[in-house]
Amino acid sequence: MVKTYRNFKTNLLSNGVMLIGFDNHDKPVNILSSSVLEEFAFIVEDVLTDKDVKGVVLLSLKKNSFIVGADINEVSAMASRESCKELVGKVHKLFHSIEDSEKTFVAAIEGACLGGGLELALACNLRVASDNEETVFALPEVLLGIIPGFGGTQRLPRLIGITPALEMITSGKNVFPKKAIKTGLIDDLVKNIPVENRKIENIESEALISVAIQRALEKRKVRKVNLLNKSLGWPLVRNLVGWKAKRTILSKTDGHYPAPAKAVEAVISEDETPKLLELITSPLCKRLIDIFLMTEKMKPSKIDCINPARDCIGVLGAGLMGSQIAVSLVGKGYTVNLRDLGMEQLRAGMERILGIEQKDLLKRAISKTEFDQRLLKIRPTTDWNRFQKTSLVIEAIKEILEWKVKLLEEFEGVADENTVFATNTSSYTVAEIAQKAKHPERCIAMHFFNPVRSMKLVEIGVAEFTNLSTVTKAIELSRQLGKIPIVVRDSPGFLVNRILARYMIEAIILESEGVPVRDINSAAKKFGMAIDSGRAMGPLELIDYVGTDTCMHVIRSLKKLGSRVEDRPIFETIMQKQYIPDRIKLSQDKITQRLILPMVDEALRCLGDQIVKEPEYIDMAMLYGAGFPAFRGGLLKWAANEGLDNIKSRLKDLQGQYGDRFAPFENFKI
Ligand code: NAD
Repeated sequence: MVKTYRNFKTNLLSNGVMLIGFDNHDKPVNILSSSVLEEFAFIVEDVLTDKDVKGVVLLSLKKNSFIVGADINEVSAMASRESCKELVGKVHKLFHSIEDSEKTFVAAIEGACLGGGLELALACNLRVASDNEETVFALPEVLLGIIPGFGGTQRLPRLIGITPALEMITSGKNVFPKKAIKTGLIDDLVKNIPVENRKIENIESEALISVAIQRALEKRKVRKVNLLNKSLGWPLVRNLVGWKAKRTILSKTDGHYPAPAKAVEAVISEDETPKLLELITSPLCKRLIDIFLMTEKMKPSKIDCINPARDCIGVLGAGLMGSQIAVSLVGKGYTVNLRDLGMEQLRAGMERILGIEQKDLLKRAISKTEFDQRLLKIRPTTDWNRFQKTSLVIEAIKEILEWKVKLLEEFEGVADENTVFATNTSSYTVAEIAQKAKHPERCIAMHFFNPVRSMKLVEIGVAEFTNLSTVTKAIELSRQLGKIPIVVRDSPGFLVNRILARYMIEAIILESEGVPVRDINSAAKKFGMAIDSGRAMGPLELIDYVGTDTCMHVIRSLKKLGSRVEDRPIFETIMQKQYIPDRIKLSQDKITQRLILPMVDEALRCLGDQIVKEPEYIDMAMLYGAGFPAFRGGLLKWAANEGLDNIKSRLKDLQGQYGDRFAPFENFKI
């Protein structure tokens, strides 16, 4: 018998299994908002008392997603600890009633099972999941400055063991189905082909749901506690594990992000609510949620002008960036023509690609078949034969302008008129590269950041002559690759490198003055500067990481902006490692000011030059492309908090002390 609610549809099957289908009203995905939870509690209460119901299957009627978590807008609006405590108390009661029920509750999971969604699945007796690329499990709460609050910190360690649970809870990272079955997070993995036109009436014929129904008819499974988990019942062992986990977290976050350490405390003390309440009303949580909401706003409305099943992408240059970009493309199902000058360069590129894919295989993020398929999708070549049919080409050859101009000419000789030419240049403008192009309208920049896999930003550099369909294709492809595309005006260094150049130049000048490299890097790291999903990194380490050649090109290209980014002789000397200065001591605060304040100045100049229209884009770009610390809310948000007048006067002081490169922009406002 089928029943329809505002956010659910249920179907009581003749064998006594109740299917409860989550189907959030007016939303593309299922979210556990307070109104959804209220309705769900009402349905669960009915089910628990209905003698005809023998078992229950929880499923989603949305395509490719189970439940993506709690309602972030509600979390953000949580005015007081009391209101949070009340909501959490209700959810705990509801989840306990599922956990303690005599009836077997099975979560049938296909697609994203995140945050509160996973916590609900953990309260079920069994979890069966679909073995496809969309299915993923995570408790990402720490990334928002909070901890799982619906029992996740308690049930997960009991289910999979304390060490893997701590890893999942404190990192917020995704776990894919193959790893999930190995750790015991799920009980069955099913090859599922969703039925056409998924409805609660016809869904039982799906392989996943049919397995879940069989499981729901079984007696409740009593989980055995393994020896290691038993030993964790001893306070001494628990405290030791907790102490070790907190020490590792502290070494990674330097105390800037309290949520992971609080999550450890919640696991060890077996009491999560007080820790959640402490965090949820903090300004840091608010800042991180603002960033999350802004990021969501930038996510797709799907355009489908470019399609992995149909389109082949070309990558020119199999070096550091080209090979990583190729990996991202095949990961999303694209076929890639990878061109370099000779077999030796291609071999080196393919080895790099193999290394990255092997890591995924080892982590069980992909199966051996997927691994083989991905590699088969890359077609290394030294000629242009296959390039006529590519829909978009990403140029990632050496940062030498004449080479890039010549390459574009060669490309135009073979590619058809609609093929987009996207350069990954760090320092030249699209206009410079397309100076001899016959079809400049299809030229654009897609500036990826290193390492491509973890740096989410792609700057879409749009020249005056770039046409709209080119812009749309570049944005859509970036989004398909899971990136955050930010459209920037075509100009030297685009946005991030222009701002970051000020920081790197100052770091080199500090080094040339004799300030120890360690002090320079450590001041930046203490401020929170990082790369690659939060790995702390100082400016001089960043220069080594990106490559001195690339940095030199960026800084040289910015010379045209004026004396503040002058290509100093001292800079050249340092790069060539010929100048060994005397050591001097400078306070950490002074070093931090000299590194960070010029970035604020340059960001305001970028706004003045309309490189982007809104200050929020600068904050997002610096966060996802330059490792500016999320806990500070963004470069310009931080500056506004400090007070722009205050920053301006500190810059003037620095100008008096160190010279005109610190002279603040005259229009010093946001
Ligand atoms: P790289 O030196 O590692 O690789 C460049 C590759 O291009 C080499 O394998 C080279 O043989 C090949 N090549 C040269 N001319 C070619 C041609 N005509 N056709 C095909 N292949 C050719 O360089 P990289 O670090 O990967 O940088 C590539 C581009 O990406 C540059 O424009 C750089 O500024 C930009 N970029 C670099 C980084 C970084 O961190 N290194 C970050 C963002 C953007």
